[in-house]
Amino acid sequence: MSNRAIIVEQGDITRMAVDAIVNAANQQMLGGGGVDGAIHRAAGPELLAACRAVPEVRPGVRCPVGSVRWTPAFRLPSRHVFHTVGPVWRGGGYGEPELLASCYRRCVELAVYMGVRTLAFPAISCGVYGYPLDQAAEVSVATLRNSLNDETPLDAVYLVAFGQDMYQAWLTALGD
Ligand code: ADP
Repeated sequence: MSNRAIIVEQGDITRMAVDAIVNAANQQMLGGGGVDGAIHRAAGPELLAACRAVPEVRPGVRCPVGSVRWTPAFRLPSRHVFHTVGPVWRGGGYGEPELLASCYRRCVELAVYMGVRTLAFPAISCGVYGYPLDQAAEVSVATLRNSLNDETPLDAVYLVAFGQDMYQAWLTALGD
């Protein structure tokens, strides 16, 4: 796929009828606020059970920061949920850009591995984790452009902004 298949939308990611949506989860993967809470509510209680079944890599950590884990999507209109954990913004000098880039890159890799053709991301780390929206938009777009080329077997990657400010940040980063 080409750069043109990165599509910015404003709305609720739980409504996206794509092959896989990405959840901005936390390391425990047992639900939370923001988009994580919305995804769990819309998917139903089976999602929490599936998350619990993901093995811990150390106490309290099912998915380390910058990594991704898979579950089914249950009652969501998508088929899969890719749970990734973004970095908490601590000023930018603690590896936050690299960790955020890793979230986007690992999700694309998992999509290719699983034969997912349409993938939707929320603005990872841009809620309670406090990542500056413009900088997060730049990291996500640059990482996706690096991860996707004309041979990548994906049809579309959606960047789903909940608010107007994130929508604008992504449009600016894409140069639209
Ligand atoms: P994080 O902990 O990674 O910062 P949050 O869930 O707090 O995650 O916020 C991530 C982004 O998801 C924010 O930009 C927030 O506005 C957005 N968001 C919240 N609910 C939804 C939703 N239903 N669909 C899409 N994006 C959402």
